[in-house]
Amino acid sequence: MYCYDNAFGLKSNPTPKQAKNFARYNIIIHIKTSLRNAMCSVKKKVLIKTYGCQMNERDTEALKVLLMEAGFTITEKEGDEDVVLLNTCSVREAAELKALGKAGRLLRKKKTHADYKVGVMGCMAAHKKELLFKKLPGLDFIAPPKALHLIPELIQQSYARHANQVAVPEPTFLNFSCYERTYSKHKAVARIPIQQGCNMACSYCIVPKTRGEQQNRPFNSILKEVKEAAQWGTKEIILLGQIVNTYHDPDSRKNFIDLLEAVQNVEAIKRIRFISPHPAFFSSQLMQAFKILPKLCPSLHLPIQSGSDRILKAMRRAYTKAKILEIVKTLRTIDMRASISTDIIVGYPGESEEDFQETVALFKDIKFDMAYIFKYSPRPLTWVAPQEQSLMKIPEKVKEDRNQYLLSILTQCSTEYNRQFMGKYQEVLIEGKAHRGEHKLFGKNIYNKKVILTGPESWINTFKHVQIGKVTASTLEEKVVEDGGTL
Ligand code: SF4
Repeated sequence: MYCYDNAFGLKSNPTPKQAKNFARYNIIIHIKTSLRNAMCSVKKKVLIKTYGCQMNERDTEALKVLLMEAGFTITEKEGDEDVVLLNTCSVREAAELKALGKAGRLLRKKKTHADYKVGVMGCMAAHKKELLFKKLPGLDFIAPPKALHLIPELIQQSYARHANQVAVPEPTFLNFSCYERTYSKHKAVARIPIQQGCNMACSYCIVPKTRGEQQNRPFNSILKEVKEAAQWGTKEIILLGQIVNTYHDPDSRKNFIDLLEAVQNVEAIKRIRFISPHPAFFSSQLMQAFKILPKLCPSLHLPIQSGSDRILKAMRRAYTKAKILEIVKTLRTIDMRASISTDIIVGYPGESEEDFQETVALFKDIKFDMAYIFKYSPRPLTWVAPQEQSLMKIPEKVKEDRNQYLLSILTQCSTEYNRQFMGKYQEVLIEGKAHRGEHKLFGKNIYNKKVILTGPESWINTFKHVQIGKVTASTLEEKVVEDGGTL
């Protein structure tokens, strides 16, 4: 196995000189890659398959730009590629098994295409590391999330040295500048990473082990990306991070509220959202931001995980049901229609029927209009002790029943929530073509509700006033479309 090193052993708090050297190193890598590409006569086509969260989707977008700058071609058509990268997720075992299965099938192509390359990036590359080479013989390279900017060079190395099993050691820092080159040109919505990793230790979560300690992106780098996206026509910004409400600029005292205000001041941006905040760090200033920043949409993703204080404590979540209710009450006082979505884990080790009923009661009380409901999946390297995992394990059948029960409540709550829009006009930012239906487009209202309407593609990235004629649990559909203004 050949290890490709970034040559700088940076500590977690680099001196300005170390940081400067790191930046200089990245420029050298960039120039070296460009020169090598100039000598490369055949443009390799790269396909990226993305699993998991919005962070992974944004990493894929950023990597596409880096690959194109390095002389590769991007293909979206499976079977057409010379190189395939799997951008993996480790949050649940099922997601890992899915990616492993896919990689195994793709590797068969090597029998007929000797030059075909398969790489694994993302969270699984961080926590399984070289074990992946054992599980997937023939795998060419692995690159953890913080090595994103090194991947074009890694592919070149793999071809130049005719080597497989190349592993990139995880750099200490993510190089946020790789997000500054916008891929979202002319897109209605841009997802902008503001931090990487997490310093919390929620007992079930593998993220701190895959994405590392929290690293906040410099304020000016975020704003640069926001302004560039705005220049390319983007109207909505979604600020992304593991715990966005703990964001602070590494070089100043600016915090998340300052960031929201700065994005609010970018004139061409009309809507702002963020994902995900942590309930424990919800300050009164953040609640007030929903009142005083008109572009901050009244749609909040609040990952509560459980409605039982006992289980929240076991999960090391550092808040109680009372705190969740306080946040929801305050937001609904500001806007009674505020949309509130959540993440919930059912079947956490030791979750009794009583605990589950507390989650049910809270769910009904808040009436979440959207929720990601997961059955607890034991993950390696997490804080749930193996003993706890086995002794207090909830049977699969119970987990499944609890999951289904919450899903049925969600359907009722979301249908009821959506019904309030029947016959009403909504300002919709049109994002793209709908998956089904000729001339069908989709967009969102300020409450993050998906609206399906009929219209030409030229409407994409414009606002329309849409009268809602039909609602389901997941969508609103048009009755009448009128030309829209902006905020
Ligand atoms: S806050 Fe908890 S659940 Fe969220 S990423 Fe950090 S450790 Fe995981």
